[in-house]
Amino acid sequence: MVDSVSKNWWLFEATPDFKYQLQLFRTLTHSEYKYLPDGIIITHAHIGHYTGLMQLGREVMDTKEMPVYVLPRMASFLETNGPWSQLVKLKNMVIHQLNPDSVLTLGNNVKIETFTVPHRDEYSETAGFRIMTPSRKYLFIPDINKWGKWIKIL
Ligand SMILES: [Zn+2]
Repeated sequence: MVDSVSKNWWLFEATPDFKYQLQLFRTLTHSEYKYLPDGIIITHAHIGHYTGLMQLGREVMDTKEMPVYVLPRMASFLETNGPWSQLVKLKNMVIHQLNPDSVLTLGNNVKIETFTVPHRDEYSETAGFRIMTPSRKYLFIPDINKWGKWIKIL
C-alpha cells in the first residue's frame, strides 16, 4: 500500500519471497519509494504470510525497529518463538499490537480497521483489514475458511 503524496509505503504480509517482493516493488515504482517499507502488516501465522520477516534479521538486512502490526496472539507468537523472538530482542522489528475492531492511522491519509476472519487459528488469530483512504475503501482478507462462517457487514 503506497501513499503517493507522502511517499510512504506499507507491506501487507511478509511472504517467503519477501526479498523478491521488495525487488519487484522497487522495479515497478522506478525507485520512487524507499527500499524498505514504513511498516509491515501481518494477518496470521501460516508460512505464506509471515516467514519473510526472517529477512529483517542481522544475518540479512539487519533492519532497525521495523514496525510490524499484528493482532495479540500473533504478537505473542512472534515474541515467544525463535527465530522471531530474536528479531524482537535485537529490535530488528518492533511489534505494534492491534486489537480487533480498532482503527490504526498510518501517515496522514490512511486508516486501517482491523477485524478477525474465521480461519484455522493454530498459532494465531487471523486478521482482515478495511483500508480507508480519503477517496476509496479497500478490503484485505487473507485466507478464510468459509464465507458462510463469517457474519459481518462491512
Ligand atoms: Zn492461512
